[in-house]
Amino acid sequence: MTDRVGIAKYLSEFFSPAYDLGEDGIPQFKMLIGGRWVTSQAGTEPVDSPADGSLVARVQTGTLENVEQAMQAVSTFGKKIRDIPAIDRINIFQQARNLLKQHKDEVVKTLVLEGGKTLRSASGEVEATAQRLSLTMEEARKIYGDYIPGDWSEDTVGKIGLAIREPEGVIAAISPFNYPLYIAAAKIIPALLSGNSVVAKPASDTPVSLLLFARILQEAGIPEGSLNVITGPGGKLGDAIVSDERVNMVTFTGSTDVGIHVNSVMGLKKRHLELGGKGIAIVLGDADVQLAARKVVEGNLSNAGQRCDAVATVLVEESVADQLLQKVVEEAKKWRVGDPMDPATDMGPLINESAAKRVETLVQDAVSRGAKLLLGGKRSGCFFEPTVLSDVPLDSRIFNEETFGPVLVVNRVENLDEALEIAKRPKYGLDSCVFSNNFYNMWKAAKAMDVGEVTINDNPKHGVGYFPFGGKKASGLGREGIGYSIDEMTHLKTIVFNLDPAGLGKRRASGSPRGRLGHLYI
Ligand code: NAP
Repeated sequence: MTDRVGIAKYLSEFFSPAYDLGEDGIPQFKMLIGGRWVTSQAGTEPVDSPADGSLVARVQTGTLENVEQAMQAVSTFGKKIRDIPAIDRINIFQQARNLLKQHKDEVVKTLVLEGGKTLRSASGEVEATAQRLSLTMEEARKIYGDYIPGDWSEDTVGKIGLAIREPEGVIAAISPFNYPLYIAAAKIIPALLSGNSVVAKPASDTPVSLLLFARILQEAGIPEGSLNVITGPGGKLGDAIVSDERVNMVTFTGSTDVGIHVNSVMGLKKRHLELGGKGIAIVLGDADVQLAARKVVEGNLSNAGQRCDAVATVLVEESVADQLLQKVVEEAKKWRVGDPMDPATDMGPLINESAAKRVETLVQDAVSRGAKLLLGGKRSGCFFEPTVLSDVPLDSRIFNEETFGPVLVVNRVENLDEALEIAKRPKYGLDSCVFSNNFYNMWKAAKAMDVGEVTINDNPKHGVGYFPFGGKKASGLGREGIGYSIDEMTHLKTIVFNLDPAGLGKRRASGSPRGRLGHLYI
């Protein structure tokens, strides 16, 4: 018998419908389309571990024919999900949560192998997904809508209206590599719970964890065809999914460039775009400098800086700048970089070598323009050292582009006004934070920053989405969050009842059911 290697080494019998074992012992995952695990005629794509470059799985190279099969499935069988009572949908998701907990270790190991996440970070991602399941189940119970009595307006006397929430229909869910289980699940869970069917595409670097989650949902009992997962490179496949006329809404999380492209090809559809970020931390002279140093370093280095809500730039008031810089370097030195499978490791590799080379180029560009390198700066394969730069010229690439790596830029400013002026420069507007103990300064900064979320005295964390988050400017459109995602994935349908024919409508004192507007056709 062939030895099970790569991700197969860690998987129990439960996941076996989702893959075949290759002759080399590597699992060859299939796609879930129309309730069945299928292969593609175009063959497979390799999935490599960024930690050591080893092959850990193969996934199908989805084709346009597979997209067509998925679209047929969602638009026929997929509708079944909206017809089952909501309480039954909740029971299915309760079961999914139990299964996810039961198979936690297998999913954690998969996240480590395919994405280079540390064990701690991968474990946190699975827990966050389980929590998201629980919280969304609670929130789904609040999908009510409104009752609107018509007699408060002259135009609608004698009528009542109901504005009810209905599922959008078919949702295309495109997810990025950095939280491949959680972000995909944060789209799929509210979509299915509120009665939509889904065609999902994971990132090519980290496709397996979503396939495992799909297997869990299948076993939990979602109706056949309500969730379809297609793997393969974005490009034509992604375009075909988002632009298909049977898709009613696109929820996309990824880079700003791809988001702008997706926005332009999808046509007239509802859209939710969670795009890139450039988190700025402002540290004022009255702040707790030790706290600020620890938090900005954690906000920068967690997940090797590959977070849309990462702290990328610190603007520190001159009076505490030296103190902060010294503590930032001390804190960053504590982070142990290494094998993500080792429980002692704090930071693993970047997702692939080209991502690590890009970060290296950003650092070199800043240094060549006069920035001071205070720590790190070196790359080895996909690994990049925790790095601290100071005095970075404002026209450096790293000051303006998304970094998506473990590099913290710390620049001095005269005062809050200067910090707020500089914070406007990057095109992004996702998250920022302010460290201060003066209420008026916190408030002034929070109101002035043109971003979706400002955190005071902590680094930004989208976490399980308990607080809503989302972008402004080049960081996207729409809001994600426990109840907010359900709002995005449903629409209001207004049903107006004319009660006059049955004599049940309210009457005006004059005896006429209508006011002086009569029937106003607009
Ligand atoms: P990406 O390169 O933009 O890819 C995102 C997803 O889009 C992947 O599944 C990708 O598939 C797919 N895709 C590529 N071309 C497509 C097309 N033409 N049509 C439809 N889909 C297409 O992003 P990434 O590198 O995976 O993720 C990192 C980015 O995501 C960062 O910019 C980060 O800030 C952002 N992000 C934002 C948030 C937020 O909440 N705002 C959260 C997490 C991440 P392939 O992998 O096959 O190309």
